[in-house]
Amino acid sequence: MYPDLKLYVGGEWRKSSEDLPVINPATEDEIGRLPKASRRDLDDALAAAVEGFAIWRKTAPRERCNVIRRAAALMRERQEEIARAITLEHGKPLPQARLEVIRGAEFFEWDAGEAMRTYGRVIPSKHGESFTVHHQPVGVVAAFSPWNFPMSQPARKIGGALAAGCSIILKAAEETPAGAVHIVRAFEDAGLPKGVLNLVFGDPAEISGYLIPQEPVRLVAFTGSTAVGRHLTTMASEHMTPVLMELGGHAPVIVCEDTDVVKAAISGAVRKYRNAGQVCTSPTRFFVHDSVYEEFRDNFVRRAVETVVGNGMEDGVEMGPLANDRRIPALSALVEDARAKGAEILAGGERHGNKGYFFQPTVLADVPDTARVMQEEPFGPLAVINPVSSLDAAIEQANSVPYGLAGYAFSNRADYIARLAEEVQVGNLSINTLEASMPETPFGGVKSSGYGREGGSEGLDNYMAIKHVWHSSQ
Ligand code: NAD
Repeated sequence: MYPDLKLYVGGEWRKSSEDLPVINPATEDEIGRLPKASRRDLDDALAAAVEGFAIWRKTAPRERCNVIRRAAALMRERQEEIARAITLEHGKPLPQARLEVIRGAEFFEWDAGEAMRTYGRVIPSKHGESFTVHHQPVGVVAAFSPWNFPMSQPARKIGGALAAGCSIILKAAEETPAGAVHIVRAFEDAGLPKGVLNLVFGDPAEISGYLIPQEPVRLVAFTGSTAVGRHLTTMASEHMTPVLMELGGHAPVIVCEDTDVVKAAISGAVRKYRNAGQVCTSPTRFFVHDSVYEEFRDNFVRRAVETVVGNGMEDGVEMGPLANDRRIPALSALVEDARAKGAEILAGGERHGNKGYFFQPTVLADVPDTARVMQEEPFGPLAVINPVSSLDAAIEQANSVPYGLAGYAFSNRADYIARLAEEVQVGNLSINTLEASMPETPFGGVKSSGYGREGGSEGLDNYMAIKHVWHSSQ
């Protein structure tokens, strides 16, 4: 059920003399050994990516599109096998893993279509001259994907790069390598030329530190924490290498007085604990109008404590463990700090059980602004519910963090919705829904949440360089 884990370099699968354990976070059992890339493996991956780029950039966009679509079709066919591997390594409930496989395939299908729509333009010029604007693939991409969505996170990076005509070296997450391994298998079976897609694992800092300064690398694409994103951006800037950064978020949810409060509370709690809250768009800071605060809070807490926590392989489980053990002390520290500063703990707040990396669905209420959790992304099953007296106060609170990725609001008033759309500082605002992105919509942040967009018709922009050609007849 769990794949044999290997590196993929220049179209060949390879092992390594050093490896790392992969742990099932629900049972703490070892489920696989992951090879660590050596310097030699990285050099080979770079050389292969240079050769792969030379082939792929000249491949017709329609052919690129066909290869990506074939690979996506294989992922759909292999949905069950991939989903089971994801649940084993990540812990999320199997139905959620199945949906993630389909979402990953959809990201590829969207980008495949975009491969044929990277239009340039003709600028009016005088007779005998032409001004044309061309979009060309930027080159070799060094990409780093995180562990929260083992399939759909690598899909974003690989889809964008391959659709644009770039080659890519992906370092996927060491905790959850199987999603990326399955993607690579699908592309191999779909006939992708050797060298276009390379997959490595190892020590993240060593690999990024080695790859980013290399001359052929023309884009660094990263999804992960703001701290690491800042570090990689600084490194890339020394080489004038552009970056695509999809970083942390600390999503506000503004609940206005005119809304269906019970519906907002229930959907808020369900969404909060999806993927054990390990989602950069996870709704976390709920700012609820005074007049509906108690009703919202009580319904949210009721649904939070009903959440079925357990091994994602078991039927009926709604929330699995955290993906790695270091998140348990990180969350406990945020809860303790909030409690010490006067917050009320209405649900959870502690590790769940003593086997596996489970954490209880947690609700903190009346949390003072001085608590760390009001500024730091918890990246776990933790919600803050605070009352606000007006939309002004809610928007001020929403914007009071360094992040600006996703934001949500519940209201049916046109004047409120217009203000929210204008004033909430995020890259993705959703009203009366807690869905934040689709393959066809641009996704990304403002402020410390990053640069660039994935998906939508903007999704290939970072993977392409703009060239203007001025042709004058002799
Ligand atoms: P972390 O900051 O140690 O790592 C975050 C990610 O970056 C991991 O995938 C890790 O492998 C990678 N990474 C770390 N150092 C790196 C380096 N020098 N070069 C290249 N990659 C590197 O944090 P963590 O404990 O793994 O995760 C918790 C934090 O990460 C959360 O607070 C959250 O903000 C962030 N995160 C965000 C996303 C997202 O979707 N935006 C996904 C996963 C984690």
